[in-house]
Amino acid sequence: MTIPCFACQSSCCSAYSVLLNSRDIMRIKSHLGLSPSKFISPVPLGHENASYEPYSFSLGDKKRFLLAMKMRKNGCIFLLKFKQEERCGVHFARPNVCRCYPFSFEHGHAQEVPEKLCPSSWELTRKGEKQFGDCYANMQTDYSAYKVRLDSWNSKIYPKLLKKTFKERTPERIFENLLEYLSEEV
Ligand code: SF4
Ligand code: SF4
Repeated sequence: MTIPCFACQSSCCSAYSVLLNSRDIMRIKSHLGLSPSKFISPVPLGHENASYEPYSFSLGDKKRFLLAMKMRKNGCIFLLKFKQEERCGVHFARPNVCRCYPFSFEHGHAQEVPEKLCPSSWELTRKGEKQFGDCYANMQTDYSAYKVRLDSWNSKIYPKLLKKTFKERTPERIFENLLEYLSEEV
């Protein structure tokens, strides 16, 4: 398998806002011992991420948000520079979407997404295709689990929070509560 990442300046990590699910959060949290609020921000649901609407939540008004990795000026908060090279600082616990990029799966086969930022083709072997296929299946499983958890938040816990005092239901407090809830072992 040809891996173009070695000849790339981590273009995907600089360009995209990485959307997360609860298992991504748990994995990074336990790997780094870092509070989720240090690396996660809410990003507005918009036309560019509209397909993620089932994984959206509110923070006190009608606007909907998604969970995303915090970004710095040069991209993802975990994108680190070593000498002249950029590397993922959370490689072994990186989100599933990072592991699967730049592939989508159609009819059981991996296909590079047309808008990919990689400088060349991956030329997957059968083993490589299986690895990405497993990754994609894991991501689907994780998003199913996340959906169950988030539905419970949206239907049971969030409405109770809205009945609290104004100080206890600011967008920041609601987001803190959501992250705590999603970080709990289930
Ligand atoms: S978590 Fe790692 S692989 Fe994913 S965008 Fe950030 S730096 Fe890149
Ligand atoms: S996945 Fe593609 S865009 Fe991202 S670092 Fe590798 S080659 Fe570059």
